Amino acid sequence: MKTHLLVPCLAVALTASLATPRQSHAQDNPTGDPVVQRIYDEGMHHSQASHFAQTLMDSIGPRLTGSAANRAANSWLLGIYKSWGVEAKNEQYGTWRDWTRGKSTLELVSPRYRVLEATMYAWSATTPAGGVTADVVIIPAASQIGDSVGFARWLQSVRGKLVLIGEPQVTCRPDSDIRAWADSATYQHAVWQRDSAAQDWRARFAAAHISNRALPALLVRAGVAGVLSNSWSRGWGVDKIQSARVADVPSFDVSCEDYSLLARLASNGQGPRVHAIADATLAPTESPVFNTIAQITGSEKPNEYVMLSAHLDSWDSGSGATDNGTGTITMLEAMRILKTEYPHPKRTILVGHWSGEEEGDIGSSAFAADHPEILKGLQALFNQDNGTGEIDSVQTNGFVNAASSIARWMSRMPADMTRNISVMLPGVAHDESTDSDAFDCRDAPGFFLTSSDWSYTDYTWHTNRDTYDKINFDNVKRNATLIALFAYEASEDPTFVSRTRRVPPISSRTNQPMRAPECSVPPRSWAGATRP
Ligand SMILES: [Zn+2]
Repeated sequence: MKTHLLVPCLAVALTASLATPRQSHAQDNPTGDPVVQRIYDEGMHHSQASHFAQTLMDSIGPRLTGSAANRAANSWLLGIYKSWGVEAKNEQYGTWRDWTRGKSTLELVSPRYRVLEATMYAWSATTPAGGVTADVVIIPAASQIGDSVGFARWLQSVRGKLVLIGEPQVTCRPDSDIRAWADSATYQHAVWQRDSAAQDWRARFAAAHISNRALPALLVRAGVAGVLSNSWSRGWGVDKIQSARVADVPSFDVSCEDYSLLARLASNGQGPRVHAIADATLAPTESPVFNTIAQITGSEKPNEYVMLSAHLDSWDSGSGATDNGTGTITMLEAMRILKTEYPHPKRTILVGHWSGEEEGDIGSSAFAADHPEILKGLQALFNQDNGTGEIDSVQTNGFVNAASSIARWMSRMPADMTRNISVMLPGVAHDESTDSDAFDCRDAPGFFLTSSDWSYTDYTWHTNRDTYDKINFDNVKRNATLIALFAYEASEDPTFVSRTRRVPPISSRTNQPMRAPECSVPPRSWAGATRP
């Protein structure tokens, strides 16, 4: 995930920042509620978040949907919940095809030797055993292509070659760095160079009369040995590395620096040749894929639910640490705190650890579709999915009465917990590109808890640098405690959160009423899914 839609709404800072340094205990427990105090103490002083995270990110590792690691993470969670005496199950929602990463290397062998920094995309095809050695070519300049006929002629020359299909960067130096060091004229020149290069790249496609999306399939038909690309994430050493755009030939993300090197060598006629090895195993058939669901059953209103939500699956070039290992650990730790200090909730407290989020919120959508009784009884769902930062806002998604419930719950928490949190009032129903959408689209109150960025957007989201070390455990500990307190207050509140939605405001972009997220029919199999 995530996308954020900035809409005109009133951000209400419910609590002011504390003027004094953070206190080590809840000295301002406003109602004197002993359960609040115990939840705070357990979460803030006995956190197990780093222990859980180290096992999940380092030992189990990234959790590509349907992979053995995804299933290992399901089993690991199940074992933990059972060891706490929390009812839990792995609920199958469909089947998926297991792709297991093997060895992959890319070496420049001519005009000089260099080991290139490259990662095979998830679900890439493989090379023959021992790999392939092939010339590297780039889509020619628009002036060389001329027109679609010229492009078709060039296509006839690419058989057996590795083709650079993405835009090379003029520099892999982040914009912020250039801005910090350059004078105004130098900075403006750098911006002009970057914009000109982007324009030059787009002109190649315009001359050829093809779209960027259509290119890989044309290359496969032309018999290429593989495709190389780069999705630079605008920071030092970071690429966004997701799934292969083409299933039939090997495909690699090459780091910004090495991709640009190959592009310069190819553009200048210096004959780059590369030895590529791509080894992976694609299971011949589909296997079951699961959401892990756990619950502490309500003692007074067992058919009403407070739900914690975060996806368990991830992309696999890092460890899936901030997307969404931190959300997973936050919800797991919140459940631990609740089981320890609030074992007999009034309403049932549920947690959903979803799979298939990265392929389009599939696990959560399937759960929402399969459990109308839970949607009907849902008091609130709290979803977290944007990294390791401290939670700083609650998206109420146009549920007009939700903000008063949230304000009431927050007013009963130590101010230390709620400092700097804004509630988007009344908010608007909009697509967050994460699991809470599956509930919001069905008019069940799913709230997205937004974390401060902590360089998530540029450095860790879907990148090769999304690893354990990027997690800030002071924040995760605080977030887990906050969510345990939200669950407690939502469970105890005599008022049931109403479903009333606001009349959608008019979008300044389209001049039409803003559209709520639409419920999609979740694909229940790899074969039934439209590949991303
Ligand atoms: Zn995510």
